[in-house]
Amino acid sequence: MLYVSTRGGARPQPFTEILLEGLAPDGGLFLPESFPKLGPAELAAMRGMSYPELAFAILAKFADDIPAGALKRLIDKTYTKEIFGSDDITPVEELEPGLFLLDLSNGPSLAFKDIALQLIGNLFEYVLEKHGKRLNVVGATSGDTGSSAEYALRGKKNVQVFMLSPQGRMSAFQAAQMYSLQDANIFNIAVRGVFDDCQDIVKAISGDFAFKARHRIGAVNSINWARVAAQVVYYFKACFAVGGEASFAVPSGNFGNVYAGHVARRMGLPIGKLIVATNENDVLDEFFRTGRYRVRKAAEVKATSSPSMDISKSSNFERYAYDLVGRDGAKLRGLLEKLEREGVLDLAGTDYFRRVAGTGFISGSSTHADRLATIRRVWKDYGVMIDPHTADGFKVGLERREQGVPLVCMETAQPAKFAETIREALEREPSRPAGFENLEKLPQRVEVMDADVGQIKHYIAAATSRSV
Ligand SMILES: *Cc1c(COP(=O)(O)O)cnc(C)c1O
Repeated sequence: MLYVSTRGGARPQPFTEILLEGLAPDGGLFLPESFPKLGPAELAAMRGMSYPELAFAILAKFADDIPAGALKRLIDKTYTKEIFGSDDITPVEELEPGLFLLDLSNGPSLAFKDIALQLIGNLFEYVLEKHGKRLNVVGATSGDTGSSAEYALRGKKNVQVFMLSPQGRMSAFQAAQMYSLQDANIFNIAVRGVFDDCQDIVKAISGDFAFKARHRIGAVNSINWARVAAQVVYYFKACFAVGGEASFAVPSGNFGNVYAGHVARRMGLPIGKLIVATNENDVLDEFFRTGRYRVRKAAEVKATSSPSMDISKSSNFERYAYDLVGRDGAKLRGLLEKLEREGVLDLAGTDYFRRVAGTGFISGSSTHADRLATIRRVWKDYGVMIDPHTADGFKVGLERREQGVPLVCMETAQPAKFAETIREALEREPSRPAGFENLEKLPQRVEVMDADVGQIKHYIAAATSRSV
């Protein structure tokens, strides 16, 4: 299978060539030339598979330039009970007839991003070793991505992680998750500033091609294709657990999770609706309701109680838009240039927007008050404690639920990560999974720096040259 760019200007390349890349050279995102289609017999055979077997059946189609035996070993090493807490990996709970919760947050950092990043860690190590390369991952985090990436890459050979986080802006739990890691290949940089300062510094570093090449800088951001591919697997797992067609309610920010559902549907999985749930930062909900995609200015982005969905622009949306324009990269490039110039793209009344209905996407949004009410309701009705992001999905899912179609709500993080909102909703402490009891008391390893690109580059350069 070869991968092309959404903007039509990159040479087709195999999986292991695009794995370590961020954007395609033409500024687009990589995706497969065409989606593999599964026939009824193949789908039936998948039904009884364990999670690792299913992951292998699906990922072998996307990563077909990794020898089958090696890919299988990497997958078997990733999706274990030790790492994800159960053999199911992503268990499905039935809350009432036709209403399900898909647990995606039982990995090491307690957020759904672990499902993809734990695999990425092993894939990176394999490909770097094979190509005799080293990689220095530089990233910015407002909370979940940083810890998930660090837990995935800690102790891995030939890779170091430099993670920028806004000093004093994360929950004590989130900061401790990252800063307590003692692995020599993990570097935490707490920036005196806000998340946007961290992201701007990472962008400045990625934009300095000479620096990037000299210090072998890479990324594990949400546009990485392997992350999407790994997330396709649990849509299959959930449909099989539910017994057939299902709709999914997906708390969304960068559109990676719900886009994986789109891919699963294109591969032949019977999915009803893909219900995109946003918080007050509703760029995606606005698009699906009106056809207008309006990027928010940084100052317009609201700090909410579901912070992992506080985004101005959804990076994976470009992959979905590629299908809306009939997989015509030149056409999409034109539209995106217009979006860049004008800050808004209005597709209302166009054939592009009419295609949305055929893809099954619908949407809704949620507020802080909705989150509190939903957390209370789910606790009272089912005795299940959900986190604020999951609550956004649940609220919108119930609003858009269709009679007779099973609804699967995705659990994207554990409540322990967001104790403040849980206390506000339920007047009690969330329980902590085993191993996290004393997290905030562990010794921390973090470098505090000004929001200064020069200083941070200097630090990265010194650390990367020491390691060679
Ligand atoms: C990242 C994240 C999301 C949003 O997922 P996308 O793939 O970016 O849409 C939702 N909930 C939690 C807890 C997250 O960490």
